[in-house]
Formats: sequence, C-alpha cells, structure tokens
Amino acid sequence: MHRRFVPAARGTTNALSPPTALAALSALAVLSAGSVTPAAAQPAAGQGAPAPREVTAAEARTDAYLNPVRDRPGPPRDFFVRLPKGGDLHNHLSGAVSAEYLIELAAEGGLCIDTATTTAVTPPCGPGTRPAADARTDRAFHDALVRAWSMEGFPPGQSGHDHFFATFGKFGEVTWRHRGRMLAEVADDVVRQNQFHPETMVTPASDGARRLADEVGRDDDLAALHRKPVAGGKLDEPVAEARKEAVGAARTERAGHGVDLVHEDDWQQTARTTAARRIAVEVPFTSNAQILGGKGADHPFTVYRRYGVPVVLATDDPGVSRTGISHEYAYAAAAYGLGCPG
Ligand SMILES: [Zn+2]
Repeated sequence: MHRRFVPAARGTTNALSPPTALAALSALAVLSAGSVTPAAAQPAAGQGAPAPREVTAAEARTDAYLNPVRDRPGPPRDFFVRLPKGGDLHNHLSGAVSAEYLIELAAEGGLCIDTATTTAVTPPCGPGTRPAADARTDRAFHDALVRAWSMEGFPPGQSGHDHFFATFGKFGEVTWRHRGRMLAEVADDVVRQNQFHPETMVTPASDGARRLADEVGRDDDLAALHRKPVAGGKLDEPVAEARKEAVGAARTERAGHGVDLVHEDDWQQTARTTAARRIAVEVPFTSNAQILGGKGADHPFTVYRRYGVPVVLATDDPGVSRTGISHEYAYAAAAYGLGCPG
C-alpha cells in the first residue's frame, strides 16, 4: 500500500505460475513486461538501456492489427484480455479481490458491519451493526458496502487518496482471515486475464508500521507523520533519499509506484542510474490516478521511457481500484500509443 517509489522487497512475495499459453507469449513480450525498450529511448551519455532488439514477425502482425483499432470508440477490450501478458509484478493481496467477493466472505464468516462506518467487525452483531449477510438480500446495503470498500462510484476529478486508503481499514477484518481464499481468487483472475507470472504481496511489516505510528502519534497529515519518526531517529531518511540509495544499491531490481520522480532533486541522474542498472519501475496507472491524480502527460511514464528505464504495467490494488491488468494495458495503448513493440 506504499504510495511512493520504494524498492520491491524480494523474498516477501509469493509467485504463482499457472499453466497458460506460453507458446504464444514470446511474440508479445515487448508490450507485456520485463524490459520495454522503446526505439526512442534516450539513455544518457553511454550509460543506460541496451539497444532495442529486432521486432519479430509476430510482433509486427500484432501491431498491424492493433494500430487501426487502438483509437476507436469502444476499445477492443477482448484483445487486451486475450493478449498474453507477462507479469503483474505489483499486486497487494489485501487490495486484490473485488468488494463483492469480500462481502461474500464476510457474510460466510458471520461478520457484522458497523453501519456508521461501514466497517466489518466481529460478531455478535450488537447495536449499531448488522449482519454482513444482510447484503445478500438488501441491494442498497450491498451497493453501499461496495462503494465504501472500493473506488466504485467515486466522483471523477476529486482526490481519492483518503477514500482509497480508508477501504483497507473497513474490510481488514475480512482480509486477514481469508488469505488463502483471496490467493485462489487472484490465481483464477490470472487465468481469466491470460497472464503467466503474477506476484502478489502480503505486507507483514505493516503491523510494525502501525505500532510505530501509534508510538510517535498519528497525524492526518501524512507528510508530517512521516517526519516524526525520522526526527526521532526511529526511521531513516525521507523517501527521496531512500529512492536514491535504493537505486544506487546493486541488489535493487525493481521499484514500485514511482510517480513522483520528476519532483525530486537531481531526478535526471536517478533516472539514468535506474536505466543503467536495469531497475524496472512498476507502473499501476489506475491506482496512480485515483490516489495522486497523475495521469496522461502528468505521469512520468514517458520520462521513464525516454530515459530507457524498464517499465512494467501493474495493478497495485485492483479490487479497490476496480481495475484489472487487461484494463491497464488498454489504457497504456490508448494514452501512450503503446503497441508491439512498445
Ligand atoms: Zn503498491
């Protein structure tokens, strides 16, 4: 749930590799994941990305199909669902499944809903609460929960930051109980979306972060909250410093989010180093737009590509965002003209 550029913690993720049509994948790998190296990439002064590889015949055929339909109204959704996709390398298990699925899990488990806060709580269902199972028959109650537990119906153009993060507290009583069921749901979606390498994250460190926030005193101003443990010596450098250090560390292979790159000091050098070390940046467009409002020309995606930084499309919290990896591909194709090759 981190919203900044943070090094992906290797060893804390669970990889799933269900059988899918691998044979068809290689032709489309440029659009999918790993090393997207646009012809226009401009690694600086001899350091940075390797030369673009040759376009395969299958990639050329796919691009020939995609180009005429890319900008038509009613995007070719089915194309992006069927497109073999490499990996969703940035997916949080706690935010990965739909609100509808979480409501059903809450109902099955006999949990209750605090009606004032739309938060799942343990039974018995006392005053001010009602059984989650009511949502099976009360459509208005069900829909109110879906809106509270996801970005469904959130007004466009407003900052969704607070609503987005509040969802995790509302359905948290459900998610910690059902990691196995949720993982199975994620795996099913991998097959539906024709992916072959998902990684979904659990974040055991979040308990420690919660304790630290309680210790230093919570603050609605997140920047102020972050400064408190830094000032008290309980936490290391601010995020920008952490980014530079992470990029400089030889062991870093991937970085999550990364939407604030261009607002940092000496970001060009950070971008060059990221490209030279082939550190991939995971980009979840929908999540970025909902939380931070960064999309289209405001998003540093084109900067990453210009510097030859490897980028991979990701979903972040697709259940909360009401998105999926196929939608992220469709968005990239429409907004940035990505094709085969990228
Ligand atoms: Zn994330």
